[in-house]
Parts: sequence; C-alpha cells; structure tokens
Amino acid sequence: DLNTVTAGGRPALPSGLLDLGDVVRTWRVCDPVHTAVAAMAHGLDDPLAVALEVLAGYQDETALNADELEAFWPLVLARAAVCAIHSTRQLQRSPGNTHVARAVEGDWAILNAAARVPEVVATAAIRAAAGLEGHPAGARLAERLRRVECVPVVDGDVGALVPVDLSPGSERLAFGEWLSADASAAAITVGPGETAAGRWGEVRLPAGPPSAVAPDTLHVGIDVFAPAGAPVRAPLDGVARGAREGDVELACRLGDDVLIVRLAGVVATVGQGDDVAAGAVVGHIAETGTGLLPPHVHVQVAAVAGLPGLGSARHRAAWLAVCLDPSALVGIVARAPAPPAASLQRERRAAALGAAQRLYFREPPEIVRGWRHVLYDVDGRPYVDAINNVAILGHSHPAVAAAAARGYRLLNTNSRFLYDVMTEYAERLAALLPAPLDTVFLVNSGSEAVDLGLRLARAATGRMDVVSLEGAYHGWTTATDALCTNPVDRPGWREELPPYVHVVEQPDPYRGRFGDDGPAYAAAVTDALGDAAKRGGAAAFVAEPLLGNQGGIPIAAGYLPAAYAAARAAGALCVADEVQVGYGRTGDTFWAFEHEEVVPDIVCVAKATGNGHPIGAVICRRDIADAFAQTAPFFSSTGGGAVSCRIGIAVLDALEAEGLQANARHVGGRLKAALERVAEEHHTIGAVHGRGLYLGVDVVRDRSTKEPAPEQAEWICERMRELGVIVQPTGDAFNVLKVKPPLCLDDAAADHIVAALTQTLEEDPAGAR
Ligand code: PMP
Repeated sequence: DLNTVTAGGRPALPSGLLDLGDVVRTWRVCDPVHTAVAAMAHGLDDPLAVALEVLAGYQDETALNADELEAFWPLVLARAAVCAIHSTRQLQRSPGNTHVARAVEGDWAILNAAARVPEVVATAAIRAAAGLEGHPAGARLAERLRRVECVPVVDGDVGALVPVDLSPGSERLAFGEWLSADASAAAITVGPGETAAGRWGEVRLPAGPPSAVAPDTLHVGIDVFAPAGAPVRAPLDGVARGAREGDVELACRLGDDVLIVRLAGVVATVGQGDDVAAGAVVGHIAETGTGLLPPHVHVQVAAVAGLPGLGSARHRAAWLAVCLDPSALVGIVARAPAPPAASLQRERRAAALGAAQRLYFREPPEIVRGWRHVLYDVDGRPYVDAINNVAILGHSHPAVAAAAARGYRLLNTNSRFLYDVMTEYAERLAALLPAPLDTVFLVNSGSEAVDLGLRLARAATGRMDVVSLEGAYHGWTTATDALCTNPVDRPGWREELPPYVHVVEQPDPYRGRFGDDGPAYAAAVTDALGDAAKRGGAAAFVAEPLLGNQGGIPIAAGYLPAAYAAARAAGALCVADEVQVGYGRTGDTFWAFEHEEVVPDIVCVAKATGNGHPIGAVICRRDIADAFAQTAPFFSSTGGGAVSCRIGIAVLDALEAEGLQANARHVGGRLKAALERVAEEHHTIGAVHGRGLYLGVDVVRDRSTKEPAPEQAEWICERMRELGVIVQPTGDAFNVLKVKPPLCLDDAAADHIVAALTQTLEEDPAGAR
C-alpha cells in the first residue's frame, strides 16, 4: 500500500498508483495476496478478516478458481516471510536506517500475526467465502463419524452427561465468576449422579482483560467434567502420536481418511507410536483443568493435528468445518446452537423498533454481558466500556442485583403508600447537598428530572421563560426538548426555538471567544434575562456545571458565580443539570457545581443514581417545593417506587464503600495525563478536556484552527472498537471522544484505552505527527 495514493478524507479511497517498476508478470493470485499482506498492516488483530475483505473486493471483479483459492493462504505466508527476511537483510546492510527498522518491525508483525492462523482454517474460510465447501476432508470425516460406532472416551460410571451452557449469556455464571477457578467450578455443577459436558461450538468467556486482539473464545471440542483420575479411553482403534504435555493424540483410520483425536487435560499412559485398540485406557484426567476450569477431558477431532482447543469466534464456520463435532466420541450430543448472524439481528431490530433509536457503530457488536468496566459481546470479546456513565459502579454490581431481588420479593409499590425506603433514600440524597437544598422529588430519568426542575421553577416564580446554554441537551420530554440547541441532536434549533427560550453562548474556554474569562461570557446571561423580562421574566437559568454534552469541557472560570448572580438579581432560579456530571464522577467533588463554587436552587440528577435502573431525582429548597405543592399534587407511578429506592440506596452505599469518587480522581487524573501525552504526539488531537472520569478527547483537523474533525472522530471510534474499547463522539460537531467509564475503571483498563487510541492514531496516515 506504500505505492497507493489517496485523495484524503474518509474512507481513504485510492486515487492513483506510483512506482510501476514493481510490476511483474506472475500468477494472478499473487495480485490479491500482495494486496492482502500489505493491508494486514492495518488489521494485525485479525489478518484473516483483512484477507477475506481484500478477496471479496477482488472476487467482485475477477473470480479466482479453486486452485488459486487453495494457494491463497500459503502464498500469504510466503509473501509475509519474504518481506520480513528482505527487510531484515536490508537492516543488516544499513543498521542505522530508521525507515528500514520500522519496516522490519511491521513485516515481522504481519508474518507473526498471519502465522498464528492455522493454514487449514484460513483456507476453509477463504473457500467458504467463495461458495465452496470449507474443508472437503472434514466434511467427509464428519459423514464417516456419523456412521461409525465409538467407545465413549469417559466411562458411564461418571453418570449421565449433561450439556451445560458456558456461553457469555449463561446464567450459570455471574459477577465475574469465569475469572476465577473456584467460582467457575460452581458453573459446572449438575445434579447428583450427573457429569457436566461443555459444548462444541460454544463461545466461552475469556479469562483475560480486554486487549487489542480478540481472544480465541470458540470452543472447538467437547469437555467432559469427570473427576480427576477418571480413566480416558480410545474411542476408535488408532496409533498414539507425539503430542503436547497433557494431551493424548490418536490417529484413527476412518475408511481412507485419518481422523486425529485430541484428548486434552489428560495424564497419558500411552507413548508415541503405540497401537491402541478402541476402548483401551490411554490416560487419566489430570488434577488441574486447563484455563480456569475444573478437571476435565477436552475431546476434539479434526483431519489435521496440532490445532488448539479454542478458535476465533469471528471465523466460527471455518473453525467448525475443520474441528468436527465430537459428540459421537462422548456418547451424547453436546453442540451449542450457532448464534444468529449480526446482520439478521439488526434487520429484526430495525423491523421492530423506530428508526430514531439509533445504534452505536456501523457494525454494532451484540453485547451480551457486562461486568465492572467491561462489556462482552456474543463472541466473548471483552471491551473496556469507556462510555457508560450510567453504570457508575460498574456493570452487574452484586449489591444492586441483591437490592433489586430483595425489593421485588418484598414490596414494589408507589409513593402514595407510606414505606421507609423512600424516606431513607430522600434523606440520603438531601444529605449529599449543601444547605438549603433539602427537599427531594423522585422520578425515573434525567429528562423527567430536568422537566420537573423546570416545572418547579415556573411554579415558584410564576414565570415561563428559561435561559439556557447553546449546544445544550437536557432531555427528550417536550419541556426539556425545547431547550435542545445541540446542532447534532437538532440541526434546525434556531428556527424551532420557542420564544420563551433564551439561548446564550457557551462559556467554552477552548473555542469560545473570551477564552477562560467567565464573567465576559456571563454578560450574555444578563442580556438574555433582559429579553425575558420584556416577556414577564425568566423562571430559570439552566446549565450543566461542566459542559458534559460538549465532551467534558470545563465552564470558563467565574462564569457560574456571575451567571447565577445575574439570574438571582432578575428573580430567576438557578437549575444545575448534574445528570451526566454529578455523583462523584469528576473526582475532586461529588457534584460538578462544587468546582464552580456556587449553590444552585434546584439540582437534577439521574443516570448514575440507579446504576442503570431508571431513577431520577430533583433536590431543591423547601420553599420552592412548597410553592409547587400549591399548584398541584405530583405523582409518578414508578418514580420513588420501593425497588428503585432500595437500588438508589445500594448505589450510594457502594459508591462510598468502594471509594469510587477517589478512584475517579486517581485513575481519571492518570488517564488524562496519558491522553495529553498522546495529544502532544498527534496533531489530530486538539485538547483533552474534563476532570476525574469525565474526559473528552477533542479531534481536530488542525490544532491551530481547532477545526473539528467529526469523520476522523468517528473513524477513531470504529477502529478503537476493533481494538477492544467502546468510545463514542459527542460535542457540538460530534468530534469529541467522550471518555466517561464506570468509576471502577482500573489503571490497566485506562492504559488499554490509551494504547488503543495510540495504535489507532499511529495506523492512520492522516494522524501522523
Ligand atoms: N441532561 C443531560 C445533561 C443529559 O446528558 C441527559 C441524557 N443524555 C439528560 C438530561 C436526559 O436524561 P435521560 O436520558 O435519563 O432522560
């Protein structure tokens, strides 16, 4: 690809070629092979996927024949090897040449990545993509296996084998149990007199943290969880082969074909070259299981030897065409169903749901499970979740699950009944706020919280108008939507703005015209209040105390004190929207307004309050609540419900017990410093905004003009997703990566975010220093 010229922009399409001196007359298949190997530099995490994409494009123009397809992957390896050897020799000749040194590194990385894919699997994937049978020998063997009588590898006295679900969505596993050997033993517990069997073709949860390369999660054998020491028998007549430690490998004749039977997790009692009769003991189940699983024998069959027990879930069909279903060897069918194709899932969703409910990502991963700051997709791929500020404690928090379970067993009714948890939760919330904010309303969402905040202000002041910031988002209800002036969420806001909404410019120290001079921006608030006065006056000045929807941009210094003073002088109330930025997220203080040294009249909070359970709250002065009570009663069927209150209390307890605000300060501070170092190295990053664990990476076309680069930001998010990080853009131009993970994020996960961003920027020609 060093000979390809692009016109820039996204996607980077070729506009020309240079250096035609490299053209040679050779086999046609070398054409896409060379292209694929070059392209692998941009997709080292899955070289086979890169090859398949290049091939698909090539085949659209020129169909390769079966011989060419068969030769494709061996030629990929040959080409990668030639490149690596050639550049290594060049470096030996000119040792100081940094250009060549980089080529050596890149070429070996491609060779190593490609060599990790078993050739037989790669070829099966390539053939299947062209509409051919993936692995002809495998298909033949599968047919023969169906007809032959096997001796079960584990004796019947271990009891009936029962297939168990160990997939990412399995309810046998909870709260990170797959990350510990002891806990995963519980997952295979079955009834008395029964033995669990792990299924063929099942995706397993990986034991490691998110990484740039998807872990191999596809289980290509069957596990029989019989006790350590149980005898393991040869299922067919065969010859023992040299195998890895802990493995017995048998070559068994099936008609004219040879079936390789791999029995892993076994202490062998046969040696290489021994003839073994069907039913003979070949070893015993070892004391320690493989991975984090308890003792078991892993039974795997294929036409070729040397394949691992886990393959790539992304290339499921190719792996399972090569590693056949070994059900016949264990005596029961233990086969996991194939997950529906992602494209079908998307179609079904689109047919059932309104199109305005958009998805993250062009090819959205299907998320099955969350645990702490990690999300797992249907392929068992773990991702650092850098976006879910709602799950402030982390996903699947045991205390939240317990509070919900307890509440649902005991009582879940509405706020017109007298029950203690509602009062307790209100007391706990009020205690988090400075005087005179002591009176609480409970609702179900951020939109409802801000909506109610506006109603309170209107009731207390008897006025209608609102002053809010340009670029704001405060919710989707009609009242909050009227304040929506975000150009992405509502491009036509200027024409649609109701007369009672007065929009003031953002006090944005990064792009704003007064820099960090807050009072200079606040003059606009005074003007807006003046405009409102002509219509009967403003009820409220509403703002996020940290510009969360702009990507965590801090408000210019001194702005909020000046704006609040102006609002109060004009008789308006000050509403702080803490839906995104409150609850300890910013590290130093619990509420973002505390940074600005102001005390609002009304505080709206949601999202984090329920850790994903719908809970919103409004906390205000007693006199404001009383004025509202004069106008009408307030009731929400599920707002303040007993289960929600229990969960709300559990969230506050866990936040405190786990020191998550301090963690936001520590990990967030470290993460911000690391992201700033990345920014120094890459001119596409204009600035890193934010505090604690509400950070924003501002992607720009040019650092000096700060011109936003939304296409680049989107591309970075797409690529970071492939590298195991979930992050999305926000901001007025959708160019700021919002980094607002669960507050349990640890240093290792923060480092992975930085590594994935760095790799993404390094891979991108437009992101060069
Ligand atoms: N206020 C702010 C600042 C928000 O960002 C949001 C949602 N993103 C809301 C209010 C509305 O919250 P919800 O989606 O829970 O209704």
